[in-house]
Amino acid sequence: MPEAGIWRTCNVCKRPIAYGAVYYRCSVSTCNKKRVTFVFCSPDCWDAHLPDQNHRNPLCFEEHAPSVANG
Ligand SMILES: [Zn+2]
Ligand SMILES: [Zn+2]
Repeated sequence: MPEAGIWRTCNVCKRPIAYGAVYYRCSVSTCNKKRVTFVFCSPDCWDAHLPDQNHRNPLCFEEHAPSVANG
């Protein structure tokens, strides 16, 4: 099962982000809604999403994906 252990996929390049892995998210509130949370595998992918969104003062936050134990 290749998809086991994958938490989400990067919104830009679609690479998988594993449970417990470091990922990046956008500081802007519209990118952190419950239904549509943007997550990125790297700061480069976060950077690539900026022109699409027209953010005014965006920041990139480093986060950790939840551990697999949470399902
Ligand atoms: Zn990516
Ligand atoms: Zn954003």
